[in-house]
Amino acid sequence: ATPTAVMVATGIGANHGVLVKGGDALERAQNVNYVIFDKTGTLTQGKAVVTTAKVFSGMDLGDFLTLVASAEASSEHPLAKAVLEYAFHFHFFGKLPSSKDGIEQRKEQILSQWLLEAEDFSAVPGKGVQCLINDKKVLIGNRALMNENGVTVPPEAESFLVDLELNAKTGILVAYDSSFVGLMGIADPLKREAAVVVEGLKKMGIHPVMLTGDNWRTAQAVAKEVGIEDVRAEVMPAGKADVVRSLQKDGSIVAMVGDGINDSPALAAADVGMAIGGGTDIAIEAADYVLVRNNLEDVITAIDLSRKTFNRIR
Ligand code: ADP
Ligand code: MG
Repeated sequence: ATPTAVMVATGIGANHGVLVKGGDALERAQNVNYVIFDKTGTLTQGKAVVTTAKVFSGMDLGDFLTLVASAEASSEHPLAKAVLEYAFHFHFFGKLPSSKDGIEQRKEQILSQWLLEAEDFSAVPGKGVQCLINDKKVLIGNRALMNENGVTVPPEAESFLVDLELNAKTGILVAYDSSFVGLMGIADPLKREAAVVVEGLKKMGIHPVMLTGDNWRTAQAVAKEVGIEDVRAEVMPAGKADVVRSLQKDGSIVAMVGDGINDSPALAAADVGMAIGGGTDIAIEAADYVLVRNNLEDVITAIDLSRKTFNRIR
């Protein structure tokens, strides 16, 4: 394609909210064999909602929610936001004036008055968060986080968790002072267009893959809903880029679509990195494309644009 054709295509893309950083990326997209989708926030809406909270120790449910929200208040993860929202509603439902005006704006202030102080907070990538509350260690996250800290999950909690996962929900486990306390189930619905886009890619001869740090059962349930057969689950953030490289080994051209900090090494490793608009700045920096509208149809728009630009004029 001539430089003019590339410029025109870049402009057409921009008009559709498909921002491409340079002619090389525009050219590579035409030959994509694999499109790898991150799950949370990419295939799903990233608007996680808590559907269940269950205590398996003697702790009061309100205290449990306060504890969890206090620890998650420092986290940027979509799961953390869902937990805070749920705890907020639990504690303030019925106690707030009926008009919601002003509450949304005051929420942070209200929360900060009521949350416990969390010290030494840290995120454990791909696993969860940890901190100290009342000088006791709080752990919130998946099985791996519990295992590596020597926390035993009782069988009745484990079977409750399996049930959630079979229903496409993500379970998060909570331990306080080295003992398991309870868990929460979180739902994150698919984006409306997700299944149609997956189907469309298959028709274009492109192989869709789902890549997630979430557990196998939840991942399989979500993949089935969206029509993806090739699933890579329980992948640590560093491992996401390895998955990209392993698919590239036979010369395949790999596109990666993601939104999170976790996805940026994979976005950079991919032949075509596509960051979802509204995603993290770090992801946007690592990508070749930014899909501003946060709509997965633009993955197809981007590939189409490249095919049209480079097939016509050779
Ligand atoms: P994904 O690849 O789907 O975006 P992540 O790598 O961000 O997932 O997280 C993997 C898993 O780690 C989550 O499914 C969850 O179990 C756990 N996790 C991560 N962050 C948190 C958090 N802030 N609170 C609770 N659990 C978390
Ligand atoms: Mg994500």
